[in-house]
Amino acid sequence: MDPKRILTGDRPTGPLHLGHYVGSLQNRLRLQDSHECFFIIADLHTLTTRPEKEHIREAGEYVREIALDYLAVGIDPERSVIFVQSGVPETFELNLILEMLITVPRLERLPSLKDMARDANLEALPFGLLGYPVLQAADILLPRATLVPVGKDNEAHVEVSREIARRFNRLYGEVFPIPEALIGEVPTLVGTDGQAKMSKSLNNAIFLADNSETVEAKVMHMYTDPKRVSADVPGTVEGNPVFAYHDAFNPEKAEVAELKERYRGGKVGDVEVKRKLVQALNQFLAPIRERRAQYDRSTVEELIVEGTRRARREAEETMRLVRDAMGLYRSIG
Ligand code: ATP
Ligand code: MG
Repeated sequence: MDPKRILTGDRPTGPLHLGHYVGSLQNRLRLQDSHECFFIIADLHTLTTRPEKEHIREAGEYVREIALDYLAVGIDPERSVIFVQSGVPETFELNLILEMLITVPRLERLPSLKDMARDANLEALPFGLLGYPVLQAADILLPRATLVPVGKDNEAHVEVSREIARRFNRLYGEVFPIPEALIGEVPTLVGTDGQAKMSKSLNNAIFLADNSETVEAKVMHMYTDPKRVSADVPGTVEGNPVFAYHDAFNPEKAEVAELKERYRGGKVGDVEVKRKLVQALNQFLAPIRERRAQYDRSTVEELIVEGTRRARREAEETMRLVRDAMGLYRSIG
């Protein structure tokens, strides 16, 4: 039987944050023993909204940072493959073939693409941005992945991959398993602003690489219940990002329950609730910081190069199957 395979990853638009952890990294860590894992750093995807040279250079830097984030949270490079998308040219090849298997209106219905265009201040949707989920399908199908651990905002894209895989198999024969999305324990972690999802590019993130002082400063400035002008005003726990983080990262469940009760009753100040959160977050991040310190730049670089080679071998094999199934012309040799 084929091994169970995972493909998931991140765009190199910034370092990884707590949202990535609960949305996707946690599942990657949990499954890396039982699955063959491919973790992609999707630099071609960043071209869909940021094709300028300066952004390409910037993405190059973030590639290393993200690989280091993976290693720091405990991704084991012996077992799991960490690779860069643009180093696997079969991605371009499969992308073109898959583009024929989905319609423009189907892609236009995805709200995520319009959001991305708006966030990047683009007036109209670039052709390539419309193809974002198709490119993602190429990533997922190249290693013939069965499982895709992602945050909730990405679920609709995995659905597109499933449709494309089904269509391919129907037209040409069974080449691809139908991949399944696996949503994290916290499907969408809210940002420190309490307004939008935590995002690399929205200035509302606590990064896995933040030091304890930065974490403290960010938490102490976090948005809470705006109606609470003083500690004796009963507060709202639901939708309050400080409590969302307590729920996600504070292992002392009894402490969290007690804080919520006191907060609702107007019996605890925001400062105390935040101080406890700082403690919990720094405890959570301590082993991540320790592991991070064990890697130097050249080791990370080597792991990426080796991983990209391994991913490429797999992609070449898949493209042989694809070409055979489709009956495409192949040059001799
Ligand atoms: P950008 O601001 O550039 O879009 P991002 O922070 O949204 O960056 P992505 O690279 O778009 O990060 O997402 C990588 C993965 O992390 C996806 O699977 C996505 O669903 C997940 N993810 C990102 N942010 C969150 C979040 N706040 N909560 C849960 N999952 C998240
Ligand atoms: Mg995003």
